[in-house]
Amino acid sequence: MEWPRPWYSNLWAPWRMAYIREHGRRESCVFCEAPRQGVSAESLVVYKGAKSYVILNKYPYNSGHLMVVPYRHVSEFEDLTLEEMGEMMLLVRASVRALRRAYRPHGFNIGMNLGEAAGAGIAGHLHIHIVPRWVGDTNYTTILAGVKVLPQSLEEAWKTLKPLVEEEVKREARKG
Ligand SMILES: [Zn+2]
Repeated sequence: MEWPRPWYSNLWAPWRMAYIREHGRRESCVFCEAPRQGVSAESLVVYKGAKSYVILNKYPYNSGHLMVVPYRHVSEFEDLTLEEMGEMMLLVRASVRALRRAYRPHGFNIGMNLGEAAGAGIAGHLHIHIVPRWVGDTNYTTILAGVKVLPQSLEEAWKTLKPLVEEEVKREARKG
């Protein structure tokens, strides 16, 4: 019988548990992990820049829900460098242009949830949401059941958006 070893070791090695918790959190960060897998329909990464990348949201609010994420594991907005901010904004603009071409949305929500209190799903690694919107896309199904019927699969969205985002980033670079 294992008792009382598990709780005993946890109780008397609190520094070790704190280390494991911190370490485990860092290793399991999806935003650190995704770009290491490269640009693919599996990783959902659409484009990799020098300081940041574009990825499809696995749990989208709408079809084509993209996110721009720095490679660095940064939680505070103030900790972003000027280079990171500059490239992230460029990738947001390229994403908006790609989404316009692909889906002809009526509008966009672009923003960040900083901290768990603000609704961040993964609070440790900040990210900018780019959500295409259509008139009437928030219907009763969404409001009442929290269920969203998405017309396009993630794989299809990736295939559609990957070349378009790439093209738009190149166009941005040519303009300088
Ligand atoms: Zn991370």
